[in-house]
Amino acid sequence: NLYNILQELKGNIRVFCRIRPIFNSQESCIEYIGNDGSLMVFDPYRPHNTRKVFQFNKVFGPQTTQCEVYNETQALIRSVMDGYNVCIFAYGQTGAGKTYTMCGTSTGLCEETGINHMALNDLFHISSVREDITYEIYVQMVEIYNEIVRDLLCQDATNSKYPFEFHPKNALGFGGLSIPNATMQSVQSSADVLNLMRLGEKNRAFSSTAMNHRSSRSHSVLTVHVHGKDMSGNTTTSCLHLVDLAGSERVDKSEATGDTLKEAQFINKSLSCLGDVIMALAQKNSHIPYRNSKLTQLLQNSLGGNAKMLMLAHVSPEADSYGETISTLKFAQRTS
Ligand code: ADP
Ligand code: MG
Repeated sequence: NLYNILQELKGNIRVFCRIRPIFNSQESCIEYIGNDGSLMVFDPYRPHNTRKVFQFNKVFGPQTTQCEVYNETQALIRSVMDGYNVCIFAYGQTGAGKTYTMCGTSTGLCEETGINHMALNDLFHISSVREDITYEIYVQMVEIYNEIVRDLLCQDATNSKYPFEFHPKNALGFGGLSIPNATMQSVQSSADVLNLMRLGEKNRAFSSTAMNHRSSRSHSVLTVHVHGKDMSGNTTTSCLHLVDLAGSERVDKSEATGDTLKEAQFINKSLSCLGDVIMALAQKNSHIPYRNSKLTQLLQNSLGGNAKMLMLAHVSPEADSYGETISTLKFAQRTS
């Protein structure tokens, strides 16, 4: 039964929910946050409707700091140094705080740094204190927009539109992200990674002049490849994928036309494929539908098997977002 499946998989698939602080002192649709990972929502505009309760591995309320979020994900992230493949997804409607969690803000305040910076700091720290293993760390950063994969670490952004092909293994022999042509940068410190992330963001913004709100309409994937070698020459390769997903909001079909409609259809399709893959994994199905989207193809080697996954579902607490909040929570619950 489902309960047993969930218990068995607890170590491999986890789902957290993060609620960002409310804007403009609007009314909230979050009624209750439990310490046990439960959450109760209601529609303030229809106060007589039934309250809905959701259950996750953990719920982070609006006061939760970046460090508190990182503390809860640290063990998972550190396991990449022991040879596990790890995927962390930020899911939710645009404005719910996905990029804030993953990348922090550009204010430069240290309490606002995101998971990716803290994670890289941590990995380099482990690498420096472990004397029995020598590590090499490489980074790739790509974007998937309308089912086209783009290299974000290309020095010349105009050349970065090359449509990558999928290969079982890349040039360095890593199985994780199989885009042989995407730039693979060797990094020595988290400062190196920060610089690369800035380049990636710049390349991402480059195309947004042509396409409005591009960054919220595409998935961005930062992949950290870890290559470890012990004293007797045994090697392990593993990777950590930090994925800032496209906004999950549903687009009103009566209003969207042309490019906007096309974008929305691609996003719907890839997010529902991701949900299908995770659910198939949770149910231990023999067929896992990886091939239905670029994102799941890209992450195939890091989803399933011994790989560990964390879904960070982000919700906006405002009453106006009630509908999207319910749909995000349902998606996340389905994958847990
Ligand atoms: P998304 O990437 O999901 O579209 P953002 O991360 O850009 O959303 O967040 C939208 C706005 O809310 C940003 O101005 C961001 O700084 C702010 N924000 C998001 N989450 C938090 C939080 N937990 N605490 C403070 N500000 C937040
Ligand atoms: Mg964002």
